[in-house]
Amino acid sequence: MANYFRRRRPHASPNKNEEKVRRELAQKNLARSAVTLAGQYPGVAKLSLDVKFLSAQSLILDQKTLNFLPQSACRFVFPCAGRCGKGAFDLKVIISEAVNARKNLVENSQRCRERVYAGSDETCGCEMQYKIGIAYFPKPAAGPLQGTAKTTP
Ligand SMILES: [Zn+2]
Repeated sequence: MANYFRRRRPHASPNKNEEKVRRELAQKNLARSAVTLAGQYPGVAKLSLDVKFLSAQSLILDQKTLNFLPQSACRFVFPCAGRCGKGAFDLKVIISEAVNARKNLVENSQRCRERVYAGSDETCGCEMQYKIGIAYFPKPAAGPLQGTAKTTP
């Protein structure tokens, strides 16, 4: 009997169906890992976000206001509205720092540093101005009040 040698094709590209399945799986994983505001910042009652995108020439490209409640999914990454087509503004760290410091209002801006096209010296320059408003739940009452219900006859 002939001993057929089966050639392996380690560099074969995945077929379209495999790619589709993988994409769907990735989307499911993304949905499952969506973190709510309450999960991420249990002390926050409401978070509002005003963002405005300005082109390098200071023209308004886009602006929006988003309100997050405890059950809202935390999505604090915004694609750049400028000409680079691939930049993103990530406010996660800024929001985490603001919450840790229990700030009620943070205003600032960031500029996109993506190149306009690969190899170009010119950067996108799109600016995102943001205003983050944060409302907190009252802090739980401390020590002395705990356990009083149990000791009352
Ligand atoms: Zn950009």
